[in-house]
Amino acid sequence: MVALAACYEARVTCSLCEEKARGECPRCRAPVCGFHGPWKEGFACRRCEDAWDAAKKQRRLAILPVTLMAAGLGAVLSAAAMFLLMRQADLGLGAGGALVMLAVPILIAVVAKRRADRAMRRRFLATPPPA
Ligand SMILES: [Zn+2]
Ligand SMILES: [Zn+2]
Repeated sequence: MVALAACYEARVTCSLCEEKARGECPRCRAPVCGFHGPWKEGFACRRCEDAWDAAKKQRRLAILPVTLMAAGLGAVLSAAAMFLLMRQADLGLGAGGALVMLAVPILIAVVAKRRADRAMRRRFLATPPPA
């Protein structure tokens, strides 16, 4: 069984070129050479990465509502926090306060977008392409 596997290993070529396969894609399980294979942890083969890149626009559209909602929520929260702070400290809303009210929603939106991006990437790597 082991000998058979070794024999198979030696004869397997990359699914994308004529080179000897060095491993397999973690996503589609296709044998791939050093050039077409994942070059880093968390990456798939060249073909899978191409599919990932091709769907970039759809992903951006899918993430947009999440980002906007997070920004809106962040704006409401920072406005409420500012309001409470101003009432308690009896302060006016200075330039610093305005900056915080602007920066907090953006920060929250960026974090939400990154999380959504990562979740989508995980789902993509865990889902093999349709045969
Ligand atoms: Zn190759
Ligand atoms: Zn692949």
